[in-house]
Amino acid sequence: MATNGCEGRLKMIEELTTNAEQIQDEVLGEILRRNAGTEYLRGYLHGQTEKQLFKKNVPMVTYEDLKPYIDRIANGETSDILLAEPITGFFLSSGTSGGQPKLMPVTAEVANKWELFRGLYESPAMKHFGDINQAGKRLELMFARPEIETPSGLKAASVSTSIYNECNFRANLPKLYTSPVETIFCPDPNQGLYCQLLFGLIQRDEVVKVGSVFASTVLRGIKFLENHWQELCYDIKTGRLSDWITDSGCRNAASLVMKPNPEQADLIETICNCKSWEGIIRKLWPKARYIWCICTGIMRQYIAELEFYCRGLPLVSDLYACSEAICGMNLEPLCKPCDISYTFLPNMAYFEFLPVKNERDGSIEMKSNNEDTELVDLVNVKAGQCYELVVTTCAGLYRYKVGDVLMVSGFYNNAPQFQFVERKNVILSVDQEKTSETDLFKAVTEAKALLDPLGFILTEYTSYVDTSSAPGHYVLFWEIKGKEGTHCKELDPKIMVECCSRMEESLHYTYKIYRKRNIIAALEIRVVKQGSFEALMDYYVSKGTSLSQYKKPSCIKSEEAMKILDSRVIGKYFSPKSPL
Ligand code: AMP
Repeated sequence: MATNGCEGRLKMIEELTTNAEQIQDEVLGEILRRNAGTEYLRGYLHGQTEKQLFKKNVPMVTYEDLKPYIDRIANGETSDILLAEPITGFFLSSGTSGGQPKLMPVTAEVANKWELFRGLYESPAMKHFGDINQAGKRLELMFARPEIETPSGLKAASVSTSIYNECNFRANLPKLYTSPVETIFCPDPNQGLYCQLLFGLIQRDEVVKVGSVFASTVLRGIKFLENHWQELCYDIKTGRLSDWITDSGCRNAASLVMKPNPEQADLIETICNCKSWEGIIRKLWPKARYIWCICTGIMRQYIAELEFYCRGLPLVSDLYACSEAICGMNLEPLCKPCDISYTFLPNMAYFEFLPVKNERDGSIEMKSNNEDTELVDLVNVKAGQCYELVVTTCAGLYRYKVGDVLMVSGFYNNAPQFQFVERKNVILSVDQEKTSETDLFKAVTEAKALLDPLGFILTEYTSYVDTSSAPGHYVLFWEIKGKEGTHCKELDPKIMVECCSRMEESLHYTYKIYRKRNIIAALEIRVVKQGSFEALMDYYVSKGTSLSQYKKPSCIKSEEAMKILDSRVIGKYFSPKSPL
């Protein structure tokens, strides 16, 4: 069912992946030719542009290394200290997984790459599900954040906000999406969300695709709907928008389309009023062909819950990108969430890979001496091996460590495909042991299996290391929900204690040894009340994170965030014995 435009894009993907090596060399050559004279690169390349010299002399860096240059540009110095092409603004990374938001230079070329990518990454899904642009509309939850102005007058905005600001996007919005622009730019995300759901319900017979960039935002939408469906139905029945929606943009947009529709309201009410919300998305939006959201990495913890709500509809996670660079896309949109791989697009940046090794029980640690480790080119990575991603871009990042760990799952033509493994910097540690995001995910998965048969779902979790008493111990915050309205207070405390034990048993060998020697104290699970993780999300959003790009931290480091969870604890449980 591929359309001509889609066929053209699929052909382009074939060409890019077939010629990956040559394209990568051209991308690097062009970056070096243009930028070898910048203050930053002159220090390493002395005006030369050879790949070998680049590989030998230019160091791997993190944001902290480049920050002085970026800050100088943000404060008014010319951008050619770092890159030759003029800067048009900055992307603001979400900053939730790694602390403070980062500023990434944006140029006209960066904007062009994003435009190209948006056309490309949807094309495999279009091949399977037909041209959704012609078939109907997308109910996509989108939240812009206000732009920040740097002292130099340049604007900084999240990638998603920058996209929502584009003329092309705005021009196509009414035809392709159910949400009016005012609801996306509403300063209060809750008012915006209410209105986006309202518009999505009013146009429910036209909706062919439901989603948001990240799985957690889709779930946030569903939970919000659980709490507000009666009110939404009332608004649809009467054709009047609730009074608490005070944003004038949202009210104006609503006044243009709302009229009393009691039949539609009754239908929605009947669907929402049922005891179980299993498959609710398909019931509410019967023409939806698939659910769209990233559900790999930190988002994989939401898959089970999402599958419950979208029963019968495929979950498509089709892109892998960050504020630093566009990386890859999923060529198999129908694959199972656990098999999702992203094929790298060699024209988006120059990609290198720092090998990381499997030290214990399948968990990952960096080689001890990074600087001695050769970076591997895109086309030379080995299947089954894990790497940390390093990018060189047209926008002033040279051998920049993104902080993501990826595993090569195969090749498409000559371009490698990667599974997302984890963020590198999320590590729990009391002593010498290191527990990664993946270690934690595996242990939580084992433990929460005890809840499933009892009709309870673990909806959210995060962690931190409590060193306020010696020895320190791991603390997990869990939010638990009953599948059919049961309250988590009905959960037998013995089961929670059992969950603590199961987690400890599932952690790696070093953890268990340290636990046995009492270098680490008993693992603790603190059950928090419903809505605690929404409050955490609200906190980060109030600090400037875009709801569209929000990623819950796997490990809490901010004291304020800790207080939000700690003040909502309703039960504390400890592992009764050492796991060995
Ligand atoms: P930001 O720069 O705020 O957009 O965050 C980018 C980060 O989000 C990446 O470095 C990844 O850690 C994460 N991310 C983006 N896309 C994916 C994906 N498809 N799967 C897993 N994590 C992702």
